[in-house]
Amino acid sequence: MIEIEQIDKLDIDIDRVQADLEDLSRIGRAEDRSIYRMAFTQADMEARQWLMQRLDHAGLQTEMDGAANVFGRFRDGTDKPVTLIGSHLDTVPAGGSLDGALGVVLGLECLRRIKEEGLQDHIYPVELVAFSDEEGRFGGGFFGSRALVGDLNPAVIHEAMDLHGVLLSDAMTNVGLDPMAALNARRAPGSYRAYLELHIEQGPVLDAEKTPIGLVEAITGIFRWQVRLLGQADHAGTTPMPMRHDALAGLAEFTGEIPRILEENGSESSVATIGNVQLFPGSVNTVPGQAEFSLDVRDADREILEQLGDTMRRALSAIGRRRGLMFEFDMLSNVDPVPCDTRVIDTIADSLDSSETAYRRMMSGAGHDAQKMATIAPVGMVFVPSKDGRSHTAAEWTHMEDIHTGGNILLRAALRLARLETSW
Ligand SMILES: [Zn+2]
Repeated sequence: MIEIEQIDKLDIDIDRVQADLEDLSRIGRAEDRSIYRMAFTQADMEARQWLMQRLDHAGLQTEMDGAANVFGRFRDGTDKPVTLIGSHLDTVPAGGSLDGALGVVLGLECLRRIKEEGLQDHIYPVELVAFSDEEGRFGGGFFGSRALVGDLNPAVIHEAMDLHGVLLSDAMTNVGLDPMAALNARRAPGSYRAYLELHIEQGPVLDAEKTPIGLVEAITGIFRWQVRLLGQADHAGTTPMPMRHDALAGLAEFTGEIPRILEENGSESSVATIGNVQLFPGSVNTVPGQAEFSLDVRDADREILEQLGDTMRRALSAIGRRRGLMFEFDMLSNVDPVPCDTRVIDTIADSLDSSETAYRRMMSGAGHDAQKMATIAPVGMVFVPSKDGRSHTAAEWTHMEDIHTGGNILLRAALRLARLETSW
């Protein structure tokens, strides 16, 4: 039996964590220090190899499942429910060094510390995971955790495509993976006692308040559309302004309406973003006949999200009618908000309280693998501050002191969850 007092005295090796983070950040790093480790690229595969080597070096077992999720564990073949800790190694294009990577590196450190203390034989199993394509290069994101919870089918794998028209199946095949093997990654409900993820906040709240830890109560819901406004490509010199069917003008009008739509139909935490726009034919002397753009809308309340979707559909139709544009869209993803498990939240809160660490309870405005894992396991999340709220950029930064605090909370909460005395 392991006493709580013993758990609360444990400390991660922050120098080792810092060295790992620096090491990992070199993989896929451009000259401006931004990171290009998009899912199933060479750099992404190299990051998996790096992690497996680090696990191997620590005397831990490694496995890469059919979805190319990487696992680290003390021994293979357990039938006991596992406390799984982890995050992801892929990045957005020109991303930062901590989004995903921090949770994986700290999870690795937790396993190493447990092994060094010889605790692994006195607890339920603790394992590490690095999930595939969390960032959604191929559509809605969470490919690895979707595979794990059984939320994939052959058609999804077959059809998934990135923004440049590269098929998921081709990208996987190109790096030596069998795309359909992702269907074998499925785990049964009940396999996990809990899934615990530490992540950078990716927003400005903790840093502004100088609070070292965020205890996540729920993860925001998101819907993502790929929208097309179809007008008519005409000569830029000869087509009078009133006779144009300018798709970009329609897009611009819609963009201008977004703040009012959110204010009237959303909540305080509602956000909407048009982050990718393409104009056709894309010629300097032609009226844009077609505008194709992404729309990403988030809120922690499912009904509010539905309402926002309805309002945006109506707004786009109305603009289309006024300007002589056809409007159509594909739903790229639609993810419901997910509450974290109260037992896991309470366990993390116990670890925070007993070490007298300041924290705030909060929502996650970003999507995370934890929301997929919640369909088969109780989940919890810990946030550490993002300097100036910056994320998905090379400016992503968290003070080492906060990483140290977060790592200790992750280690102690994981061990509390994995204690033989913890029953649920
Ligand atoms: Zn992330």
